[in-house]
Amino acid sequence: MSVKYQIILKPGREKSVLLRHPWIFSGAIASVAGEPCSGETVAVYSSRKELLGLAAYSPTSSIRARMWTWDAGETIDRDFFTRRLRAAILRRKVAVQADESDAYRLVHAESDGLPGLVIDRYADYLVFQFLTAGSEAWRAELVQLGLDAAGCRNAYERSDVEVRRLEGLPERCGILAGDPPPELLQIHENGLSFLVDIQRGQKTGFYLDQRRNRQRIRELSAGREVLNCFCYSGGFSVYAIAGGTAGVTSIDSSHEAVELGRRNVRLNGFADNEADWVVGDVFQYLRALRDQARQFDLVILDPPKFAPTAAQAERAARGYKDINLLAMKLLRPGGLLATFSCSGGISAELFQKIIAGAALDAGAEARVLEILSQAPDHPVALNFAEGAYLKGLICQVN
Ligand code: SAH
Repeated sequence: MSVKYQIILKPGREKSVLLRHPWIFSGAIASVAGEPCSGETVAVYSSRKELLGLAAYSPTSSIRARMWTWDAGETIDRDFFTRRLRAAILRRKVAVQADESDAYRLVHAESDGLPGLVIDRYADYLVFQFLTAGSEAWRAELVQLGLDAAGCRNAYERSDVEVRRLEGLPERCGILAGDPPPELLQIHENGLSFLVDIQRGQKTGFYLDQRRNRQRIRELSAGREVLNCFCYSGGFSVYAIAGGTAGVTSIDSSHEAVELGRRNVRLNGFADNEADWVVGDVFQYLRALRDQARQFDLVILDPPKFAPTAAQAERAARGYKDINLLAMKLLRPGGLLATFSCSGGISAELFQKIIAGAALDAGAEARVLEILSQAPDHPVALNFAEGAYLKGLICQVN
């Protein structure tokens, strides 16, 4: 191993690296030998000069380095990435059932031992996100090796994410390899079809992390009148119709998302009148429904990240409480609330507390029937608890 640069940690600040947490904050670093550039591999030493492993350096981020490996004998090169990519892809053979979907997450960054790299597969296309200086530095190699490992020839980049700014990187999108993607490409999930815009859609085009929960909503929808809040392109709505809903109303603030939702209903052979669509603000709409005394049997709340980090948790908690309280009031006795949070800054424990507070204020007696999380193609490495970001509860409300 020949690594040109070294960082030495402060005494007492080695613990998280020894526990195999991949992040090294700037405050934990005593000294940096030389001037490693953005994304360069650095050797990480304890204050007593023991070699702890190899990391990618990020000169502008407060997460100053991210561990590639704790095995000091490894070299960070094409072979290293080939091994990690193959292992990640092999993991999906367990995480995704054979006929479950042709769209799923192939690489889930830190949780697959590849900090800052996300690769989502949509049928014949791989969509890449390079979120950190380290993954950016290996971009060309990762695209080629990722395509090879996945047996795919088309790649598109969606590095249009704000977190790149913290890494001193500009946002970027575009074709990486193969054919330009169609305006909308079609994916197949649990026997249903969806149109996905990988170039301009939210995230990399579809909320792959909710796949298993969509299936659960299908099972729970039979004969129930459903309200799907923050519906995006109608994922939960299409599943609700497939499950025999007594009617589904879907709302999102994005006009494009709602249009795509309508198309997804038609694509699956369902009639237009099986679903009602609203473009609007959920906070206002729930109040309007309350004032009209509308009632539902199943309300889904899947809002965007209100609290990306713990710093925004308090404000976010108010937002979650508000919509959950309103939703509970719209439920018929015995109705179900399927409520989610994808905020990294809100723990599962805090989320449940917020929902409990909402029930109390709504004067509702509610119990958790099921605890939900992200689909298994978004694994959580046990040394990286932050990887568990999607929390969901199905509550019955009386
Ligand atoms: N449930 C969806 C994903 C929801 S993502 C799925 O499974 O595919 C969150 C969605 O909330 C986005 O589509 C975004 O456009 C929408 N959104 C954000 N703020 C909103 C608001 N105040 N009112 C309505 N929709 C909102």
